[in-house]
Amino acid sequence: MTTDRCIAFLGLGVMGTPMARNIARAGLHVEAYDVLDKARDQARASGLTVADDVRELLGRADVVVTMLPNTPHVEAVVHGADGTLANCRPGTVHIDMSSISPVTTRELGEASLSAGIGYVDAPVSGGVKGAREGALSIMAGGSDEHLDQVADVLDAMAARVTRMGPIGTGQATKVCNQVGVAINIQAVCEAFTLGRALGVDLDKLREALLGGATSSWVLENLGPQMIAGDDSAGFRIALQVKDLRLGLEAAQANNVPLPAASGVLDMYVEAMAHGEESNGNQALSRVYERLANLQIAETAG
Ligand code: NAD
Repeated sequence: MTTDRCIAFLGLGVMGTPMARNIARAGLHVEAYDVLDKARDQARASGLTVADDVRELLGRADVVVTMLPNTPHVEAVVHGADGTLANCRPGTVHIDMSSISPVTTRELGEASLSAGIGYVDAPVSGGVKGAREGALSIMAGGSDEHLDQVADVLDAMAARVTRMGPIGTGQATKVCNQVGVAINIQAVCEAFTLGRALGVDLDKLREALLGGATSSWVLENLGPQMIAGDDSAGFRIALQVKDLRLGLEAAQANNVPLPAASGVLDMYVEAMAHGEESNGNQALSRVYERLANLQIAETAG
């Protein structure tokens, strides 16, 4: 594995910038790009090498990493005039780390492979903290050949890289994760709402439940924020809605009913309608407060 490869990193948002910095810290040559001038300026100020001409950058890249908002953005980077198919040399490997549609991912992978460009879908869990600390959990789809070629790039950002199978299985794993997390949050909200209505102290309720069959990561890590009325993100409600929609689209395409995920999506949409899209996903508790007309939180956040 040579270290003089050129790694083009596209998408310098709250996740992408720290991820690109960790690749650079590992001693690899990274050049970063974002469509927004402001994002490029901020990345430059953070010490990253930043390119202004994306076509020229893609033309000499050996590895392209994308960390973009949603499916259409990645489609544009693969198929657009400024994209990988139009500009990359055969032999380049594209790693898409955004959370996007598993169905579209398979199509993007096939189009890339047909052009001689390797494709790996490698969405992440672990949030901004994990991105900063190089401690993300990466769910990777793609051939072993391509995953081996980019193993050092992924390792630079991750505490764990799990190889899930062929292209699309990384994104499939991510949507399963997002469906499971959202329903777990809903379960804790319902237990807390009932507990509050019955006059139970929620700190004591949480402590008791942590010792039993209702114990969960959500109860342990997000429960205190719900009880304290701390709505700060964490993982924003807008992203939770996007990911639930991706999961439900994939479910519909495969004739899989997901009644609990459909229900919790509607509750998150209610939060969006109240202008709460930037709150953390634990602030689903506010929707329950409105439904039951009582405060889960001890202090309004
Ligand atoms: P963000 O909106 O902060 O950043 C995305 C960046 O991509 C923006 O700066 C945007 O200008 C840029 N961009 C859009 N199109 C581009 C293009 N064609 N070329 C170059 N740059 C382009 O988003 P984020 O929070 O960093 O999330 C990125 C992805 O990671 C999303 O899919 C999200 O769901 C996922 N994710 C986010 C978190 C989180 O906690 N924020 C956690 C896990 C996964």
